[in-house]
Amino acid sequence: MGDKVLVLIKPDGLVKSLTGNILTRLSETKLEIAAAKIVRVSRELAVEHYKFLSGKPFFEDLIKYIQGEYHSRKKVLAMVYVGEGAIKKVRELAGATNPEEADTVSIRGQYGRITTKGVYENVIHASSNPEEAEREIKLWFQPDEIVFDIYPTEVRDVTEKKRIWSSATGKS
Ligand code: UDP
Ligand code: MG
Repeated sequence: MGDKVLVLIKPDGLVKSLTGNILTRLSETKLEIAAAKIVRVSRELAVEHYKFLSGKPFFEDLIKYIQGEYHSRKKVLAMVYVGEGAIKKVRELAGATNPEEADTVSIRGQYGRITTKGVYENVIHASSNPEEAEREIKLWFQPDEIVFDIYPTEVRDVTEKKRIWSSATGKS
């Protein structure tokens, strides 16, 4: 199966209508897409995702950025790709963290920017190593949202409150 990698198209990528372009470039890698969904990012999810950066001066701005607080679209597109060298391939396509240092043909080099607050709005996230990929994928996705069994699962009886579709007919 090869590597697994969590890929996020961040709120700036959605605002700039880059989704189609980025999906095309990801499909050119010949990696296989295993999961995809649009997510409204809670503060809790944002903080857990970026927990290793919590001591950085830009941390609070980074949390606001990934939550879409600086953009009109408060959502991200979260995906899982699998395949040989998936992490390396997607990170190469993404380019360097700092969009000004990123290769000009990379996604971050082409579309990223540094804000006046100093946040790197770099359009795309990709896990940096297999351990981070596993942690991030398990944070963003439940097993049933991924079409392959990429990590071991177990079946348990769980009772939880869950929002379901209302039985009343919608008016819209
Ligand atoms: N970031 C930033 N300023 C920095 C370093 C990072 O704004 O000096 C942001 C940027 O959006 C980056 C994210 O924090 O994508 C996560 O940082 P990381 O070092 O993990 O870089 P990445 O793995 O995304 O290349
Ligand atoms: Mg990283």
